[in-house]
Amino acid sequence: MLRSLAPNTTRVAIDFDGVLFRHPRAHAIVARRCDRFVAEKLGISLAVGRELNRATYPAFGHTARALEHLSGAPVSLEEYNAFVYAPDVLAAATDAVRRDAGAHDLARAHDAVRALAARDDSRAFVLTDAPVRWLEAMYAASDLPPPDVPVVCAADALAGRLKSDPEAPAAARDLWGDDVVLVDDSAAIASNFVRGSPWRVVLVAPGPSAMGARLTVARSVHEAIGLL
Ligand SMILES: [Mg+2]
Repeated sequence: MLRSLAPNTTRVAIDFDGVLFRHPRAHAIVARRCDRFVAEKLGISLAVGRELNRATYPAFGHTARALEHLSGAPVSLEEYNAFVYAPDVLAAATDAVRRDAGAHDLARAHDAVRALAARDDSRAFVLTDAPVRWLEAMYAASDLPPPDVPVVCAADALAGRLKSDPEAPAAARDLWGDDVVLVDDSAAIASNFVRGSPWRVVLVAPGPSAMGARLTVARSVHEAIGLL
């Protein structure tokens, strides 16, 4: 049985995509644009770009970082975000959410975060690698108000570092201290913070739940927040 993870004095950093917001069609629209970004940057076909992106993304935790590895050249996050979260992508994802609101559980996640914020109104925040306009668009598409906790774009807060960056845990400790629980659905990001910080990590993933000293696996954000 899982025991409680943290007292109310612990900060809680919650990921957005894959944790709070899980909408396969909306995420597929973004993923397709990521594939196109890889293809165009490398000058290869979309099909090969897709294969390369899918093969390298898990290890790097972000397409821009995987692309730097593949191309050997720096990839600006501004360029990546401008391409991947372009207005037509936000509009298409908004359409997908409006057509199929029942496919995701942002409303339920929103309630769980609201309950967490009410319990402890300054310690939880959303920490995301996506630009804030993406979150704002998906909350609006879901007819929900913005989250009741601060939304922090990792790259903005961590001097250009994404959560998957090996130096991100040290930068994050400087900002938020050592007593933090990170809730994320990326194994690459979870292992990065387990390795590079004293933060406890909840990996949101399918399958059985389990709790270790540093890494807990939970099936959903509801279960993760229930542990806090
Ligand atoms: Mg995620």
